[in-house]
Order: sequence, then C-alpha cells, then structure tokens
Amino acid sequence: MSKSIQDILIQESLSREDVICLLKANEEETRLIFEKAAQVKTKFVGNKVYFRGLIEFSNICSKNCYYCGIRSGNSNMTHYELPADEVLEAAKYAYEDGYGSLVIQAGEISNKSFVDKITHLLKEIKTMSKGKLGITLSLGEQSEETLKTWFEAGAHRYLIRIEASDRDLYSKLHPNNKVHNYDFRIESLKLLRKIGYQVGTGVMIGLPFQTIENLAEDLLFMKGLDIDMCGMGPYIEHEDTPLYQYKDQLMSKQERFDLSLKMVAILRIIMKDINIAATTAMQTLDDAGREKAIKVGANVIMPNLTPLKYRDSYLLYEDKPNLDEEAAECKKSLEERIKSIGGTIGYDEWGDSEHFQQRIKK
Ligand code: SAH
Ligand code: SF4
Repeated sequence: MSKSIQDILIQESLSREDVICLLKANEEETRLIFEKAAQVKTKFVGNKVYFRGLIEFSNICSKNCYYCGIRSGNSNMTHYELPADEVLEAAKYAYEDGYGSLVIQAGEISNKSFVDKITHLLKEIKTMSKGKLGITLSLGEQSEETLKTWFEAGAHRYLIRIEASDRDLYSKLHPNNKVHNYDFRIESLKLLRKIGYQVGTGVMIGLPFQTIENLAEDLLFMKGLDIDMCGMGPYIEHEDTPLYQYKDQLMSKQERFDLSLKMVAILRIIMKDINIAATTAMQTLDDAGREKAIKVGANVIMPNLTPLKYRDSYLLYEDKPNLDEEAAECKKSLEERIKSIGGTIGYDEWGDSEHFQQRIKK
C-alpha cells in the first residue's frame, strides 16, 4: 500500500517519491501540507517577514533566455539603466522607511563599466545608510573577480536561479551556446558560496515541457546544494519570447499558482530554516499571492522601489503588478495584509538566512 500524506509529513527526510506524492496531493491533502509548512516556519524562522526593497537597475541584458521579456533578442522594448542618483534616492527611501535591505536586479551585463557602476553604487549605499542597509544582488553570472569585488563593496547575498535543474529542460529554455551553459550556472552558485555570499536560487513553475518529476527534483536539487535562500514562482508567458508559441500547452494560471504555493510549502518542510521569498510572479497571478505564500512558508517580500517611469520597461513577463502604485502606498497596504495573516515585519533588520548563520557557526 502506498504511503499517506500524513505518513510522509511525519518523516525526517523525504525521498524523490515522497516529494512527488506531495506535489500530486489533492486539495484536502494539500491543506495538511500547508499546515505542516506553517508549523515548520513558525518553529524554525518565526513569523517575521523581511522586506527587500527591489531596485530594477537596468533591463539591458546580454543573454537571450527563451522565456524572458527583456532578453537581448526582444527589439520591442525601450532600454534603460537607472542613473546613480535615482538608485541612491530609492535606497534612501528604503533606509528611511525601515526596509532593512535592498535587492538590486538587472539583466546580465559583465563589462567593466557595468561592474564599476555597481561597485560604486554598493559603496555609496553603504555610506549613505551607515552600513545599515543589507544588499542582495541579482545580476546574473559574473566572474570570480567581479563577485569578490562586489562582496567586498558590501553585497552579502546573491541570487542566481537555476530556472530548471533538469539539464534537458534547461536546454529547451535557453539557446544552446556558451553564455547559456547549465554547468557554468551551477559553477556560479558554488563560486558565490566560496566567496562568502548567502546563496539563493530558484526555479520557474509551470514551464512548457516541465513535469511534476522535474519539480520534485528541483526541490531536491536545492536541498542538495544546501542553499540559504530561494525565490521561485510561476512561469508567466510573454508575447515577445520564443516560448510564447507553447502558451496553449501550459497549465492554467490558477494551476500554476497553486503548484507554486505547494512548492513553497514543500521547500519549507524540507529546508526548514532558509529564507523563502513570496515572489512578484505569485502576486501577478493572484492579488493576494504573496500573502498566501507567506502563510505557507515564505518569509521575505520584495516591494518594488524602481522609480515608476521605468517600471513598464522591466517586463520579464505579462501583467506584472504595481506598475502604477506608489512605493508608499504599496508598503502601507502590504503592512496591513501581513498583519492580517498573523505576520510581523522585521523593520530595520537584514533578516539574514538562519540557515546561513547556522552553517557558518559550524
Ligand atoms: N538577469 C538575472 C536577473 C534578472 S531575471 C538572471 O537571470 O539571473 C530574474 C528572474 O526572472 C529570472 O531568474 C527568471 O526566473 C525570472 N523570469 C524571467 N522571465 C520570466 C517569466 N516569463 N516568467 C516568470 N519568471 C521569469
Ligand atoms: Fe537576461 Fe535574466 Fe532575462 Fe535571462 S532571465 S534574458 S539573463 S534578464
């Protein structure tokens, strides 16, 4: 006889088959998974939610990922890079409003001018905030030298999603060439750890060609890499991308959302003390998506602080929310929403990954 969901949820460690079983759970069983995930979260990381003010620094990208709206091959967009003073203004806003941390994200560019600009900004942000603002980077794969320079300039967390941990699936989502190499991406994650960063990765959920088995392996991949942080969310098609041609083969958006919620909950169960983000893509498919994710295991939210005039140019996917919402308004409504689900906000805290702290103690 096969194991019940209850049996699986009381085990210390989960096999590939167990995870597949959880991912396939029906609605009633899913409630048990969510309950368990909420318990694990409270016990291991508490009910604080940490804010990372998101600054989408530039939509210029040298890569051409088949899913992404700001890929280099998309000529149907206006390019921008934030001037330094606008980045600093957004950082100041975050600092004064008690956000605790920033995420700086952009398309992948590795030339010297870009690297220097980021180094300079990191130093300026650190000076402006008297060292108090934590900084996460999400700037793609970079050389060891660059990653070290940025670490020394003050960045301490870095996100590189593996996107799909299955090599074959990865190759269907990216051009088959040197700059989109699966092994390099894994090497980059290892490099981040070596340099001393808190390391984050993640995947997209509901991609064309993706199976439940792939998703189970994604979760075990993250466990295997012993990551400190995760950001994952539904894949959302974008008209100006090659993957758009498969839009009719996708799960419904509701199904992609539900599956993403399950992925968050299961990851919380198998990686008890990491930081897990309630991502913007989850909010895109459900107005209350981020709160729902917080309820079942996530503990990080990234309110968008990109100046409004650039927002409609940073469209990784369709229907991105908050394009016209003022940052302040956003924060206030977020605060209320988080309180309503029993969370508190870790104002002025870095909210570092507990998992990372435990590892460096060893
Ligand atoms: N260039 C950097 C960071 C910016 S892209 C990098 O790629 O690492 C940030 C994330 O956006 C990507 O990792 C990808 O997972 C996500 N993304 C891109 N296109 C998407 C889409 N169509 N649907 C959902 N997420 C998408
Ligand atoms: Fe560039 Fe990142 Fe989009 Fe790929 S996912 S095209 S690297 S911005």
